[in-house]
Amino acid sequence: MPEEIENVLIIGTGCAGLTAAIYTARANLNPLVIEGSQPGGQLTTTSEVENFPGFSKGVDGYGLTDEMRKQAKRFGARFTQGFIKEADFSGHPRILKTEKETYRARAVIIATGASPRLLGLEAEKKLYGGGGVTTCATCDGAFYRDMDVAVVGGGDSACEEALFLTRFCSKVYLIHRRDELRASQIMQDRVLAEPKIEMVWNSLVDDILGADQGAVSGIRVFDRVKEEKREISVKGVFIAIGHIPNTKPFAEALPVDENGYLLPEGKSQIKTKLEGIYAAGDCVDHVYRQAITAAGMGCQAAIEAERWLAEKSF
Ligand code: NAP
Repeated sequence: MPEEIENVLIIGTGCAGLTAAIYTARANLNPLVIEGSQPGGQLTTTSEVENFPGFSKGVDGYGLTDEMRKQAKRFGARFTQGFIKEADFSGHPRILKTEKETYRARAVIIATGASPRLLGLEAEKKLYGGGGVTTCATCDGAFYRDMDVAVVGGGDSACEEALFLTRFCSKVYLIHRRDELRASQIMQDRVLAEPKIEMVWNSLVDDILGADQGAVSGIRVFDRVKEEKREISVKGVFIAIGHIPNTKPFAEALPVDENGYLLPEGKSQIKTKLEGIYAAGDCVDHVYRQAITAAGMGCQAAIEAERWLAEKSF
């Protein structure tokens, strides 16, 4: 067990965690950043980020987070790989455990983000990854060149995935459970104007076909209005139905809402009910969930941690 007590332990390396790392490193706090299973966070699965201020021509998600990481390192942030499984916030220092390591820290910034929600179908489990079911068009889209695919969801992510896939695929079915998209107007307009995208409204994915063969061969959808099922032949299924916050290890020590999002204390966006413990980005924010707002929250959390540490004069 490392005997040293970290000033600040940052959990997560998405926009929130990396921004917190930049700020706490620049404040000479020598932060230790725990990098989980998806370094760079959700942005690394986005093709092009068009709305992060400062990039008039857009920027690719991986490149943006990689630059943030380098920026944090430049000021002395340290990174280590691990997955926090347990948090003991009952005393000081705070104790956090991965499978192999135990960390002790004065201040903690939780920036663990959120993971893709899945449909919960048996076939989805079997075909996830190599079998043709995925949650990342940027990562897997090119495998479906000249093929028909389906995207499930009606938000910005689903629209973005569908639009991205039109670069490779012959046809993209966008399966949405209602008759109106949730996505921002600009994304709706683009999707509805794209000839390669066919909307499948009011429909739920009832099953993914091909599990026995180990490769997607189609989907069966249930039209909730017509109350009928039909099969659509596709080779890939891209699930984009939102996310689940990665807060399980903290959910006993800190209050969470009914969907698992950490609950901020009072009017603050980033303070938790425990002093010196902050939450930033998609693990706490279910309203805005943007790269820029996550970065902003990471900045706020870092400044609060810095002030709190100075006040306590540890
Ligand atoms: P989201 O906005 O929560 O949308 C999830 C979509 O999936 C909704 O259309 C929802 O349907 C549908 N859905 C949820 N559970 C489902 C289920 N079990 N079966 C079928 N459909 C289901 O999630 P998101 O699209 O990932 O976006 C998350 C946040 O990131 C948003 O704030 C979004 O604006 C932001 N974002 C922005 C950009 C961009 O600006 N370029 C890109 C990606 C994401 P209902 O509509 O019926 O609820």
